[in-house]
Order: sequence, then C-alpha cells, then structure tokens
Amino acid sequence: MSILSDLAGGKLPSIAEIRERATAHHNGVVGFANSGKKNAYVCDNTSAFSTDGCGSYIVTVDLEPGVTPFSMKCGRCGQLATSKGYRVSHHLEPSHEWYRPKNLDGLTDWQVEHVCNGGLLLRPVPGGTGEWSSQ
Ligand SMILES: [Zn+2]
Repeated sequence: MSILSDLAGGKLPSIAEIRERATAHHNGVVGFANSGKKNAYVCDNTSAFSTDGCGSYIVTVDLEPGVTPFSMKCGRCGQLATSKGYRVSHHLEPSHEWYRPKNLDGLTDWQVEHVCNGGLLLRPVPGGTGEWSSQ
C-alpha cells in the first residue's frame, strides 16, 4: 500500500504513520539513513547544472528520516541551487534544518502532498536568520 493510494482514496495519513513509513524506507535496503546528516545547497556557477548562479549557499541538517529535494531556488538570486549530495565538510554549521511538521495544519496543497510522501520541510535552525551565505 502506497501513500499515494491513500491520498487518492481521500485518506490522509497521520504524521506518526508518515514518520513510521519514512523511517522504515530510509533505514532499510532501499533508502539512505539521512537522519542527522549534513548537506549543502549551492547556487553554483561552475557545475554542469548551472553556470549563472551567484555562489550563495546554505548548509542543512536532516532532523528525521525523509525525502529532501535535489535542488531549490537560491534565496539570494532565484537561480537554481543544487544539493551537494551530503558531501560536505563536517565542520560546517547548519543554517537550515529539514524537519517533519507535527501536523498538516496550515500547509499548502503541495506541502501536504510532499509531507505525505515522506518529504521534509526546510526552516532556519533555531536562532538562525535563514539568510543564504555568500562564498
Ligand atoms: Zn544565487
């Protein structure tokens, strides 16, 4: 039984069910134990994906097992910032964290679908500004 079939049937899973499935998936043979792992998203100007980025970046940490995107919009220039695939230096301090919300209240339709499919949401770390750093 997939989460999508639940959605099609009009029944939204609870956050506890979502967490359970994501944990089973990400700690199993298919997934990747991402919990606690650091990553970075870089608005690159030297990669195969982008040559017109501004060079800004954020450092993230995954608080829970779950899905995070490969790319996102740069917070400074709006170009595409891409994931470093968890290959980041351990000394980097996260500016943002990927979290699972406590419930689905107040989320957009896109966010509800994303969270129900095991996706995590992004927010600044506690006390952080949420600003993108420049290189
Ligand atoms: Zn940028």
